[in-house]
Amino acid sequence: MSEIERREDRTPGRRGPWAYSSAPEGREIVRLQDRYDLFVGGRFIEPKSGRYFETINPATEETLAQVAEAGEEDVDLAVRAAREAWEERWRDLPGKERAKYLYRIARALQERSREFAVLETMNNGKPIKESRDVDVPLAAAHFFYYAGWADKIEYAFPGRTPRPLGVAAQITPWNFPLLMCAWKLAPALATGNTAVLKPASTTPLTAFLLAEVIEQAELPPGVVNVIPGPGGRTGEWLARHPDVAKIAFTGSTEIGKILRRSVAGTGKRLTLELGGKAANIVFEDAPLDQAIEGIVNGIFFNQGEVCCAGSRLFVQESVFEVVLDKLKARLDTLRVGDPLDKNTDVGAINSRDQLEKITELVQSGIEEGAEIYQPDCPLPERGFWFRPTLFTNVSQSHRIAREEIFGPVLSILTFRTPEEAVEKANNTPYGLSAGIWTEKGSRILWMAERMKAGVVWANTFNRFDPSSPFGGYKESGFGREGGRHGLEPYLDLDGSGR
Ligand code: NAD
Ligand code: MN
Repeated sequence: MSEIERREDRTPGRRGPWAYSSAPEGREIVRLQDRYDLFVGGRFIEPKSGRYFETINPATEETLAQVAEAGEEDVDLAVRAAREAWEERWRDLPGKERAKYLYRIARALQERSREFAVLETMNNGKPIKESRDVDVPLAAAHFFYYAGWADKIEYAFPGRTPRPLGVAAQITPWNFPLLMCAWKLAPALATGNTAVLKPASTTPLTAFLLAEVIEQAELPPGVVNVIPGPGGRTGEWLARHPDVAKIAFTGSTEIGKILRRSVAGTGKRLTLELGGKAANIVFEDAPLDQAIEGIVNGIFFNQGEVCCAGSRLFVQESVFEVVLDKLKARLDTLRVGDPLDKNTDVGAINSRDQLEKITELVQSGIEEGAEIYQPDCPLPERGFWFRPTLFTNVSQSHRIAREEIFGPVLSILTFRTPEEAVEKANNTPYGLSAGIWTEKGSRILWMAERMKAGVVWANTFNRFDPSSPFGGYKESGFGREGGRHGLEPYLDLDGSGR
């Protein structure tokens, strides 16, 4: 195989098994601890709460470790450590010095990339080829990118005097555990803020590995703190803490709304990256084989547990039959199973709760009259699994066409004209992302202008780059992460205090 083919195959969405050998990625590279303590003030400390919770591997249901749960006193300690670090060291450090730390973190992520990838896969359930080729490299890229901004902040906002805000409370989800930490920490640190990070309860382990990297990079103690715990307690205490200046949240629309109410009138800054129900729109003149790969990547990447997943497919009527046949054939080739196997395309669902949520919504689709297609691939006995699923005969009023499923489930609908495609695609309370497949450049622009979506991909899907802003409209949240836009939520630009 030529080098060019090999590189092609490694891009997300090119899921052919040919680029990978069949040996499982060795888990021996990960040195699991029995117990993980809070990372506060530059040290790993036992929680004042005295509580630990179990974290598991969703592909095997085996216990991986005990994890410290931050109680109210622990939250307070972490915020105080972050505040002191901000006032005494970090806010006055020249940007070029902050950049050095960010570069160190980025390089350590690269050096320990296999360890990060295997641990991420063990705790989340995602296929190793995704954690290895997408999550970890993108996390490193994010730190490299924002390291580059750290000494150029004033040039990003000409004529204004950007100042950091203080302590950022950063609350992350379980679908991209490490990558979401990177999206939160890199811009916060680059702009001179300090951070208290609360990782999602089911996937705390790579946040601890990142804390270890941060300790080894010798960041001043307290600049980054990691405090896991249940969202309704630890997350809420953190968000409500009076010394928190900014909250960055990625997760469900439900919790986003709660946070929005709880910060009202406090002067705290808030950015929300919430759910989605993205449309992937295929025109009759689209490069169909490429589109099929994009559709499959769009919904089955990370088991569909992706806020920008292309979960509603709109196919122009004239090519509906051919697209459906090709999709079914492609589905039959997907390998579901051991996430540590390099050939696996679809891994484990992250938790039993999530599996139940997916199962319930799929059941509603059947009951409401949609037609289901699932390949009859074998599934492991233990762990949380869901087969890649297609629905046809879907109407826009069906729950599966309206609600975020956050699983490997695609609803297929049709349209005749571009106007109809726009209208149907925008007929959702969400507005995070969209995909358009056509050879016609002018149509891409026409569509992109009319899509109420923060990100519009053309002839590709689920592509991410640190320089490119990401975020939603409507119930998908507000604020942007990535690019120059991603600096703004962490800065006071008007001299108005917070
Ligand atoms: P969630 O919104 O409950 O959790 C996200 C993060 O917020 C976690 O760290 C959680 O501990 C924390 N949290 C929960 N309640 C909180 C509160 N009251 N105050 C502060 N923090 C709180 O998401 P979930 O329960 O893990 O997943 C439920 C659904 O959310 C999924 O089915 C999916 O639809 C959606 N989701 C979206 C994204 C995304 O990337 N947009 C990510 C994860 C989940
Ligand atoms: Mn929840």
